[in-house]
Amino acid sequence: MSARILSGKEFALQIKEEVRRDAGALLEKTGVVPGLTVVLVGEDAASQVYVNNKHKACLELGIRSDIVRLPETASKEELLTVIAGLNQDQAVHGILVQLPLPKALRTVEQEVLLAIDPAKDVDGFHPLNAGRLAVGDEHLVPCTPAGCVKMLEMAGLEIKGKHAVVIGRSNIVGKPMAQLLLARDATVTICHSRTKDLAAMARQADILVAAVGKAHFVTADMVKEGAVVIDVGINRLPNGKLAGDVDFEQVQHVAGAITPVPGGVGLLTIAMLLANTVKAAQLAVR
Ligand code: NAD
Repeated sequence: MSARILSGKEFALQIKEEVRRDAGALLEKTGVVPGLTVVLVGEDAASQVYVNNKHKACLELGIRSDIVRLPETASKEELLTVIAGLNQDQAVHGILVQLPLPKALRTVEQEVLLAIDPAKDVDGFHPLNAGRLAVGDEHLVPCTPAGCVKMLEMAGLEIKGKHAVVIGRSNIVGKPMAQLLLARDATVTICHSRTKDLAAMARQADILVAAVGKAHFVTADMVKEGAVVIDVGINRLPNGKLAGDVDFEQVQHVAGAITPVPGGVGLLTIAMLLANTVKAAQLAVR
């Protein structure tokens, strides 16, 4: 058996078309151009690539995009001053502080995220937005899990009544993923680093989500025949190649559907960031 490959490229294109249409409609109705500002502190190479990709994607779809670059040595106060200015700026509908912050600022990461106006929190990481999601109000939802669920829906893969197993309990992927699946009537199990007999848990999954951060962690013997496998992991191998958390080569022969890495969930994350920016702009002009 060979799994259906869920191409992030194909679904991201569809989401982007919706974003382009919504941004155009907003402009026509209100004269407002949705605006995203990314704050980038330091010179982290991977972050530079992500930020440039976000910038390009915004411009393609009629979203105004700005990047505020601060030096590696920027203080907490400088960063908070920038965020306060963006909170006040009516042309800015979405604010994203690119993570990880440089080492010296890592201990204040939560404080920095808390400083962002929740109405402009297009990453969906602010505790207010996390709380809204927890009570079933999907306002600004973290982009990666939101993209995964949207992809399942667009692919016509049933969630209701299925047993979903999410491996990983981070605030940015695992927990919101579990909440989104629960809200769509899945029965959800969350596994993590202290879970006993994780393989047996994983084998019960109709929908298996891997958000661990360990290359090839999910092997074929952990997957039920026909399961839908969503691989959120992005891991750099010693040979420089990217790999997911799932052993794609083996698991594709057991799963019913599977996302590849690269070319899977990562592309949906950017598309959902743009969707969140347009949503924040729509809500701001209401
Ligand atoms: P994280 O390190 O915050 O969380 C990892 C989770 O995995 C933890 O909850 C931990 O309990 C669990 N875990 C670790 N070791 C385990 C083990 N041996 N058994 C079971 N569970 C274990 O990571 P994160 O931010 O949630 O990201 C997870 C992965 O997803 C990373 O590879 C990251 O790069 C990737 N990611 C991708 C995107 C995207 O756009 N595709 C976005 C965010 C994160």
